[in-house]
Amino acid sequence: MPNCPMCQSEYTYEDRGLFVCPECGHEWSENEETDEGLVVKDSNGNVLQDGDSVTVIKDLKVKGASGAIKQGTKVKNIRLVEGDHNIDCKVDGFGPMKLKSEFVKKL
Ligand SMILES: [Zn+2]
Repeated sequence: MPNCPMCQSEYTYEDRGLFVCPECGHEWSENEETDEGLVVKDSNGNVLQDGDSVTVIKDLKVKGASGAIKQGTKVKNIRLVEGDHNIDCKVDGFGPMKLKSEFVKKL
C-alpha cells in the first residue's frame, strides 16, 4: 500500500478501487498522481515549456570543456526532461547538454 499523500500515514487500505487513509480520511485512486506530468520551473518559479528560450543566470562549468557557459548566455529551443538536470538543449560553442532549471531564467 502507498503512504497517504496528504499525511504520509502508513496505515492506508484499499476499498473498491480507492485507497483510503484512516488517519485523515483522504481517499484517492491509484492513477491520480501520475496525471500531473512533468513540471519544470526556472529560477524565478516560472513554468518552462518545450521550445522556450532561456538565459543562463550564472557561469556554469562544463565537464570536458575548456571554458564555462557564461552568465547571460541565451539558450534557444529547450526540451524538458526528467531528472536532476531537467533541461535538454544545445548551447552555442558547447553543443548538446543538460542544464538545471534553477540556473536559468525564461526569456
Ligand atoms: Zn492521511
